Amino acid sequence: MIKRLLAPVQAWILLQGKCPGCGKHLSLGRKFERSDNSQKIICSCGRIYIFDKRKGKYRRAAFTEAGN
Ligand SMILES: [Zn+2]
Repeated sequence: MIKRLLAPVQAWILLQGKCPGCGKHLSLGRKFERSDNSQKIICSCGRIYIFDKRKGKYRRAAFTEAGN
């Protein structure tokens, strides 16, 4: 029940460029350039996101993307 409500809220927070986990702005996180026109962002809370430069959108990093 709660999870069904939470997912859209988290997606919305991410759209604002903020970490749904801790609420910090992702522009404050550590950034790593990637080869595919995107950036990997590591938030200070340890969560990992991908910023797509073409779309200008953040998303959660897939498990396979966390390491590189
Ligand atoms: Zn965070």
